[in-house]
Amino acid sequence: MIRFDSVTKRYPDGTDAVRDLTFEVPRGGITVLVGPSGCGKTTTLRMVNRMVEPTSGTITIDGQDIAARPAAELRRSIGYVIQHAGLFPHRTVLANVMTVPRLLGWDTARARTAALEAVERVGLTQEQARRYPSQLSGGQQQRVGVARALASGPELVLMDEPFSAVDPLVRADLQEEVRRLQRDLGITVVLVTHDIDEALTLGDTVAVMRDGGIAQLGTPTELLAAP
Ligand code: ADP
Ligand code: ADP
Repeated sequence: MIRFDSVTKRYPDGTDAVRDLTFEVPRGGITVLVGPSGCGKTTTLRMVNRMVEPTSGTITIDGQDIAARPAAELRRSIGYVIQHAGLFPHRTVLANVMTVPRLLGWDTARARTAALEAVERVGLTQEQARRYPSQLSGGQQQRVGVARALASGPELVLMDEPFSAVDPLVRADLQEEVRRLQRDLGITVVLVTHDIDEALTLGDTVAVMRDGGIAQLGTPTELLAAP
């Protein structure tokens, strides 16, 4: 579904974050980018929705060069979840989840219906949807972050360390939830983590990154069998 072709990223200060990256993210399932801090995972992920522009190379989604699409339009079509949910503190949960549908120009009623559906999908109640983010636990806030990414019904969702800031018991629940959502909705998830156990638990495909490149790529079974 996503294809990287000889993609490099050099930041203005000269840091080579991604070096000659060529690989494919299959449609459906969860593809995990895993590796130590600084190996280029976040840069790779953010190039998919053009939050970061590659220095050279091509990225295509379903065969279409993403550089040919307006960045803002591309970004709205792809769900994005980060470590700290990044919710607007002065807006209710429901208003937060309505953000992307509203940006897409949906009318209020349609945006509201989609947001409530997404809120319920991630296991939160309508009552919780009326609260402000600070009135929810960290794990619940992450659920809101996931709901916000799903509300407009994207086919592709990018997740950057989505569970790293929540405690381990909640983390297991959230992992389960993302797995279930991926299956139920048939979406494609690309997830970044530094945690190899999480990668092997969640990934249908695991890309082990090192120094801006992919050191190993395969299913968890293949990776565990590798020497
Ligand atoms: P990871 O997600 O694996 O921790 P990153 O993609 O965040 O890796 O970073 C890869 C490398 O690029 C690191 O050396 C990091 O310090 C550097 N880097 C990331 N963002 C920037 C930036 N905006 N400007 C300069 N260097 C950056
Ligand atoms: P994340 O947790 O999303 O990986 P970071 O804390 O690594 O975010 O980085 C926060 C912001 O700083 C990002 O926009 C990233 O691109 C930028 N950044 C990361 N590393 C560097 C760096 N070495 N120099 C400049 N900016 C950086």
